[in-house]
Amino acid sequence: VLEVRGLTKRYGGLTAVKNLDLEVHAGEIFGLIGPNGSGKSTAMKSIMGIERPTSGTVTFQGENVAGLPAHRIARMGFGMVFQHSRPLNRQTVLENIMVALLPDSLFMLFPDKALTERAKWIANRVGLGSVMDRRPPTLPFADLRRLELAKAIARDPKVVLVDEPFAGLTLAEVGTFSELIRSFRDEGRAVLLVDHNVKSVAALVDRVLAMYLGEKIVTGRADEVMRNETVRRVYLGGA
Ligand code: ATP
Ligand code: MG
Repeated sequence: VLEVRGLTKRYGGLTAVKNLDLEVHAGEIFGLIGPNGSGKSTAMKSIMGIERPTSGTVTFQGENVAGLPAHRIARMGFGMVFQHSRPLNRQTVLENIMVALLPDSLFMLFPDKALTERAKWIANRVGLGSVMDRRPPTLPFADLRRLELAKAIARDPKVVLVDEPFAGLTLAEVGTFSELIRSFRDEGRAVLLVDHNVKSVAALVDRVLAMYLGEKIVTGRADEVMRNETVRRVYLGGA
């Protein structure tokens, strides 16, 4: 459903992503793995249109979307969980989800029962049912991350991009988030999951691509990638 070819993103003289190729199928979790600064977030933002790719194509359902603005790509069926949460702090959790449901909307002027019900359903689904009326600054970190998941799936996207969902979570929370991400896949979505550690997502992903300094090292099943010499050297410091 998503095919990336030759994706390159330069910031001035720095090539953050270099000639990246990958495909994510419907009903699959594809892991994009690499140490800090290897270009994972830049690749995701370039796919989603938040950054304009320098070159390359991003084909979604047969159409090249590279270079389109993010709001148009989102509307075509993409949702993204950002590495850093950025909720509307004056709005409640429920209102944040409603905004994500209709980002260009006037819904605050025309509150809609169906929209409210859908937002409540999503809040419950990600475990925010008991804090729907609270504002983000009063929430624990894990709930802010849940809100990111809720916003990403609000409009029933076909492709979900998830940037470092587990950072800062407890082991139990990682388990809950993994189950949620699996459920997105099991609904037939294509999930592109970014993490810095192949080990921590090995049980979750169907295939992975390991990158370093903007470039692919190797792609394959997680266990194959973990055995790769370069991956071991780069990621585990020679272990
Ligand atoms: P992390 O694991 O820390 O999230 P990452 O793999 O997501 O890292 P990126 O954030 O994509 O890495 O950054 C890749 C490279 O691009 C880094 O060298 C970074 O400094 C650079 N970079 C990222 N965003 C910008 C920007 N807006 N302007 C200039 N350079 C940038
Ligand atoms: Mg990043």
